[in-house]
Amino acid sequence: MLQPFRESFALLPQYTEPVFYLALIPFIIIFIRGLYKHYKLYGRYLLKEVTKHSGQRLKVFLKYGLLQARILSDYFRGGLHITLFIGVAVLFIGTCIVFVDHTVEKFGGKLLVGEVYPFIESLLDFFGLLFVLSATMLLISRIIRYPSRIGVRVQYTLVLAGLLYVGVSGFLTEGLRLFLKDVPWSGYSFLGAAIANMLSYFGIHPELAHNLYVALWWSHGLVALALIAFLPYSNLMHILTSSVNIYLSIPAEPIGKLTTPFNIKALDEVEELELRIGFRRTGEIGWRDVLSVYACTDCGRCEETCPAYEAGSALSPRRLIQSLKSSLEKGFGDYDILANGAIKEEAIWACTTCYACFLKCPVLISPTKYVVEIRRAVVFEGRMDERVYPLVSNIARMSNPFGMPEYEKERLVKELRGMGVKILPDDGDAEYLYWLGCAAFYDPRIGKVAKTVIRLLKEAGLSIGILSDEKCTGDPARRIGEEGRFQEQAYANVEKIMGLKIKKIVTHCPHCYNTLKNEYREFGLDVDVIHHTQLLSTLLKDGRLRVKRRLDIPAVLHDSCYLGRVNGIYAEPRNVLSTALSSRLLEFPRSKENSFCCGAGGCNYWYHIPRVKREALIRLEEAISAGAKMLVVECPYCLAMFEDAARVMNLENFIIRDVAEVLAESVFE
Ligand code: SF4
Ligand code: SF4
Repeated sequence: MLQPFRESFALLPQYTEPVFYLALIPFIIIFIRGLYKHYKLYGRYLLKEVTKHSGQRLKVFLKYGLLQARILSDYFRGGLHITLFIGVAVLFIGTCIVFVDHTVEKFGGKLLVGEVYPFIESLLDFFGLLFVLSATMLLISRIIRYPSRIGVRVQYTLVLAGLLYVGVSGFLTEGLRLFLKDVPWSGYSFLGAAIANMLSYFGIHPELAHNLYVALWWSHGLVALALIAFLPYSNLMHILTSSVNIYLSIPAEPIGKLTTPFNIKALDEVEELELRIGFRRTGEIGWRDVLSVYACTDCGRCEETCPAYEAGSALSPRRLIQSLKSSLEKGFGDYDILANGAIKEEAIWACTTCYACFLKCPVLISPTKYVVEIRRAVVFEGRMDERVYPLVSNIARMSNPFGMPEYEKERLVKELRGMGVKILPDDGDAEYLYWLGCAAFYDPRIGKVAKTVIRLLKEAGLSIGILSDEKCTGDPARRIGEEGRFQEQAYANVEKIMGLKIKKIVTHCPHCYNTLKNEYREFGLDVDVIHHTQLLSTLLKDGRLRVKRRLDIPAVLHDSCYLGRVNGIYAEPRNVLSTALSSRLLEFPRSKENSFCCGAGGCNYWYHIPRVKREALIRLEEAISAGAKMLVVECPYCLAMFEDAARVMNLENFIIRDVAEVLAESVFE
């Protein structure tokens, strides 16, 4: 009995095989040429990097690469992407097996023969069908859901259409082959057999079928080869680059810790140096950042979540990364991405460094990092936008972003001393160092929040101290790109703090919290840092603070970027509020990790980059739509932004409070 077997180049003219192999040559040359470009830009550095931290890296790769964890958070698009990915992978492996089988056949052997062959045919038909369905739905969803983006992402749509053509023409070719030459095992190729039956039903002429078969066979092969050959030049390259990018991303560092391009103490010891930080020319971008740019799939998830984009500023993180990519394509060297208009400088300053984009990116790219690197280069050259200049000048002259003199701080220090707060180091030791942050000193509304927190901590019997000469942490300096100034302030503050006898640092400011906790370690700080909501939650749990009444008001909590998304603190502020409120705490549709920035971050609090509608207004409207009469915050800058937005919206009866203020009303009646 005839055994099932795979027949290569079946029913094709004899010249087909040699012509096909000849036709392969230009495709191979194009493919290798494209790959070489990637090798020169970053590939040559990969080898020495891939072997490091391999255990940790494999875990990351498994989660975000193979299991595509972030892609699957959007069930519809994620599901389609994963089925497309599996379909392409199985069909590619199937094609390779067919090729090997044909080569082995030339030496008298055969792989695709016997019982295994029909099984493989069924498998390929099944995954081919999955592939065609997902490619069709993705294409339709792109056209229906994102019609405005089709224009700017023609290449992506063409690639998707090309893949779809390969899938459909593959099935049609199979159907025509089975129609022209039926075999006993044809039923295993269930889709091809169905097409063959349909052709018989319609009584198609065999000669026409054969001509169609030859034409489709060639077009199927050539489109597939073109997709592979142009892979290094197209978005399809992300199959390789995004996998490598994910593999190389070790989430060992806290999200909110910016890179340290140099250390000022080490610089002091170098006699002559040529220092450049950040980048604005393509040649200044490090290979690791180049790789990330090429890993971008242009999916737009970052753009969809970006507050600055939604507010209508010039910034789109997707465009930022794609513009860097097109700049790199123009040449790796002196090409200036700002001067040539590839990226608008205004977009760089509009970023609130909220990291929403990073946490959504399926291939772990951080547009925030690129923003900071470009800011660093611009500030280093001293040629920044005139709207940003006053902030940089304030930091340089007064060492604080408000540009206020030191003596302005005395008023609050005096008031706190009157509340029994120790002024350190003069007044001895304290259990907790309360870090006030610049806003508390210079904005009476924020000073009031600090006093409320301290009143609660004193009520719980804690020993609290403040620094006699607290200086800005340098968070704004670092985020605006003034790395040297940041480090000066960090070293000065660390020296003072480490000279104290304290157990912990507590602060009501998530930005100070992030800098002290995540960035100061590198400069010698070795003390636990907590946010006031964490401490208040513990004090309530331990019974050291008790509420006397519970407030009955529909309230919603706004998760600040630097406490929530960046540092993962979501439960404690909610615990405090659920104790202080008698009514159920409402939730924003976009809460916790998906929270929407108030618009102050990334130094935007201190300058004004145009927006169509400010983030704080969008968020306040969301709070009202959620049914809230009170918006509760955990960050002084969120408080200031929302109070300002409420004034703009004439919301006289809408309440905006810090978590501590809500608790204080319950504790002190
Ligand atoms: S950090 Fe925030 S504001 Fe900046 S690009 Fe990302 S999402 Fe947009
Ligand atoms: S940066 Fe990430 S999220 Fe943004 S378009 Fe590229 S791949 Fe998508």
